[in-house]
Amino acid sequence: MANGGSYKKFLFDILALNMTKKRVAVLGATGSIGKNTLDVIRSGKDTFEPVLFSANSNAALLNAIAAEFPRAKIAFSGPRKTAEAAGFDKRNGVYLGRDGLLAAIADAGADITLNGISGAAGLEPSLAALNSGSALALANKESMVMAGALVLKTAARHSLPVIPVDSEHSAIFNLLRRQGREGLKEALLTASGGPFRTWSKEQLKNATLKDALAHPTWKMGAKITIDSASLANKGLEVIEAARLFDLNADNIKVVIHPQSIVHSMIRMNDGVVYAQLSRPDMRLPIHEALRYPEIAPSLGKEELGFEDLCLSFEKPDLDRFPMLSLAYEALRAGGCYPIAYNAANEYAADAFFNGKIPFTGISDLCARVLSMDWSGEADDLPSILEADRRARAAAAEL
Ligand code: NDP
Ligand code: MG
Repeated sequence: MANGGSYKKFLFDILALNMTKKRVAVLGATGSIGKNTLDVIRSGKDTFEPVLFSANSNAALLNAIAAEFPRAKIAFSGPRKTAEAAGFDKRNGVYLGRDGLLAAIADAGADITLNGISGAAGLEPSLAALNSGSALALANKESMVMAGALVLKTAARHSLPVIPVDSEHSAIFNLLRRQGREGLKEALLTASGGPFRTWSKEQLKNATLKDALAHPTWKMGAKITIDSASLANKGLEVIEAARLFDLNADNIKVVIHPQSIVHSMIRMNDGVVYAQLSRPDMRLPIHEALRYPEIAPSLGKEELGFEDLCLSFEKPDLDRFPMLSLAYEALRAGGCYPIAYNAANEYAADAFFNGKIPFTGISDLCARVLSMDWSGEADDLPSILEADRRARAAAAEL
């Protein structure tokens, strides 16, 4: 009888486990990654239970999301006035301000947190998610560039995974899961080349914001789109790959692949190269990350066909796109150079966005910031944030 009872309880537990939805926090819900994540959650209503959504300026969209998912908490980190105008201050379950965002993450009780916040502002939320006991699905590459060791150490302390969402890193992560890390020679990161792939150095001097925002294959937020045009995005991704997969600069190569179908590749010691191919659609890596460690079932999107598929590859031109070589230099130099690279680039991309410097001024400014001494180490959050602040101040002064 006792055995029968415990068997029933065992069956009940298994059933309950299957019925339990994965609790998901979505940071940066109003951005490009956030909207794609919402799509994935909508198509997996039996699988995912959203518990938190955050935004920084788009109160109207956050309100609409809250109306669609009334059980989830919301966090609005933008100005108090905007929050009051949206009526957030009068509602329960709403967290306001930057501290509110971190408190919301701590309280969310998420199984997995998707961090789609843009820029260095995403670092503390990444750490807060891990410290709350949540796995981290990471789109915010800046977290890894600025503080890869700290993020991974925090994850290891809580025995939690960091699952990359950036399409290239998601591809490498998946390939390594299937092929194993043993025998890995190098990672080959693909890059579309952006809108200026075929532009001459002369033409680049006159590139406008509109030109830079016209990405040929991906539809993304403004900052990452400008970074894709300057190849700073690939530079950040080289550093991100080094941190995520414990590789050095010599074992990470960048290959220009204008069609954005091959998301990245790994070359093994026996010479074989494995690649991951799919249509360029961020919902795919987001879905895979949210389902981890399960191998995600198909999202039911149109499958990649081969009838008219033409794939081409070329070498990146470091002379026209110095942001890529600066990233390699920063990675090799170590210390706070990657933090300075990210901070200077964020500052410069913003200055270009606001019409203060020309497109080629982005790499000029970053090169000047990186010519300063960033050799000190920064292992903990305060020193990482301090190095970030110093690099922004240096960029502003220059
Ligand atoms: P967006 O600019 O489209 O969205 C950014 C999101 O972060 C918005 O929800 C925004 O809120 C929020 N946010 C902005 N600043 C802050 C802040 N200071 N504090 C808290 N929240 C903030 O960016 P993307 O979605 O394009 O990119 C997000 C991250 O994902 C970046 O790190 C990017 O590099 C990475 N990534 C993006 C890809 C893409 O396809 N877009 C692909 C691979 C990586 P609000 O809108 O309310 O202002
Ligand atoms: Mg990418």
